[in-house]
Amino acid sequence: MAEPENFLRQPQAPFSFLGQTGLRNRIARRPMTELRQIQRAQHRQRLVVIGNGMAGHRLLEQLVARDDRSQEIHVFGDEPSPAYNRIMLSPLLAGEITPDAIALHDRDWYAANDITLHCDSPVMTIDRERREVVSAEGTRTPYDQLVLATGSRPTKFPLPGSELDGIHGFRTTHDVDTLTRAQEHGEHAVVIGGGLLGLEAAEGLRKRGMSITVVHLGHHLLNRQLDEYAARLLQQELETRGLHFELGTLATAFNDNGQGRVSSVTLKNGHTLKADTVVVAAGITPNAELGRDAGLACGRAIIVDDGMRTSDPSIYALGECCEFETTTYGLVEPIWRQAEVLAARLCGKDARYRDALTATKLKVSGINLYAFGVLDASDEPAVHDDVLTYFDPENGDYRRLILRDNRLIGAVLYGDTAAGPWYFQQSLDSRDLSHCRDALLFGAHDATQRLEEAA
Ligand SMILES: Cc1cc2nc3c(=O)[nH]c(=O)nc-3n(C[C@H](O)[C@H](O)[C@H](O)COP(=O)(O)OP(=O)(O)OC[C@H]3O[C@@H](n4cnc5c(N)ncnc54)[C@H](O)[C@@H]3O)c2cc1C
Repeated sequence: MAEPENFLRQPQAPFSFLGQTGLRNRIARRPMTELRQIQRAQHRQRLVVIGNGMAGHRLLEQLVARDDRSQEIHVFGDEPSPAYNRIMLSPLLAGEITPDAIALHDRDWYAANDITLHCDSPVMTIDRERREVVSAEGTRTPYDQLVLATGSRPTKFPLPGSELDGIHGFRTTHDVDTLTRAQEHGEHAVVIGGGLLGLEAAEGLRKRGMSITVVHLGHHLLNRQLDEYAARLLQQELETRGLHFELGTLATAFNDNGQGRVSSVTLKNGHTLKADTVVVAAGITPNAELGRDAGLACGRAIIVDDGMRTSDPSIYALGECCEFETTTYGLVEPIWRQAEVLAARLCGKDARYRDALTATKLKVSGINLYAFGVLDASDEPAVHDDVLTYFDPENGDYRRLILRDNRLIGAVLYGDTAAGPWYFQQSLDSRDLSHCRDALLFGAHDATQRLEEAA
């Protein structure tokens, strides 16, 4: 943690009032930390960050860790508490951890690092002409540089009944509080979406004692991460635990219990599912409106360049609200790299963001899966793809590796996932694995030995 900077909040004589020699003498007598603060104070610019979620908070951590940060920082968040670890909302819902386990930094950390935190304070407008942000209370805060880190929200579907009580997203601590009490309204819950988030919500609610059906448009679960075989293994395991699935279909209406609360969900396949609670976890929509309304170039999200800069040179964006080369984001790994790049840029250094492969995992206890890259071998005649598979039914271990020209371009591991990070690294390194091809499915140890022998 960086040292406190309370010094900066004391009223000071402006430095321009001191002669150069006077200033040098004053500086010479001060310890290094104070010196750095004086240097900063001389060049103080104001950085305003909108959004105190995972991306905004990571950026602050990166800035605090740097010696060359010169800005005074104001952060606006529309949630009531300082940033928390959103990823851990899944184990929190499942009752596996307590709320204090998701805390990141308390308010003292912000104060100690010269960051003014405005919680429960949504920014409503960006006045680019005056370089000010306007909060919901009407307060205007000037900025020299502005960062948008407004994240995204669960996608809503304009279905009949979608405004009924009992229909929730799974995004915030508020959602978890509500879902934790859902059983008070009845035991049946329907989760719309069989992706990572939907399955984590479903398992969390099941662990809270509810009866769950997951509705998923794909014909198998996690169809963006898993091949059909691994998905069936996953489904079998979840069914053994008591979850139910409706696959290859979608919700067409939410039905009213007569008192403004959802009572059932109608599906396109003609089934009607009893539902005292519904969780919609079928995609996210970037919170890009603030940027769009301010006239920033937007596609699905706020468009940024490789320095995370928007179409306005003094405004940056990162995280799920941004779009880089038509890609939008839904996992933290690329966002961490964006935060590092942006922190460097804000401190006047050159750094460039590049998209890279990301691996995914499911946070459901007792289930291990690890996947990255392409799911299917190409059927183009000019492309040389190999698919290697391994299945041990007794232990429930399944592996599927896809190689292009002897380089790993995709993997699905279910059960024993210990080798996942090693496979991932080989893929990132684009390593020629022809010398360990016959040992590749058995993990890092055998494969590495073959590679070393061949070297
Ligand atoms: C339950 C759950 C589990 C997840 N698990 C994983 C995982 O295992 N691995 C993984 O990589 N990713 C996971 N994710 C995704 C990960 O949490 C997101 O990628 C990450 O939070 C994105 O960070 P962000 O800062 O862009 O958005 P957020 O974290 O959502 O932060 C944006 C913040 O900005 C605030 N905001 C929006 N508009 C305004 C405004 N106008 N004024 C002020 N504040 C505003 C929002 O309220 C929010 O607090 C999970 C997400 C959820 C919901």
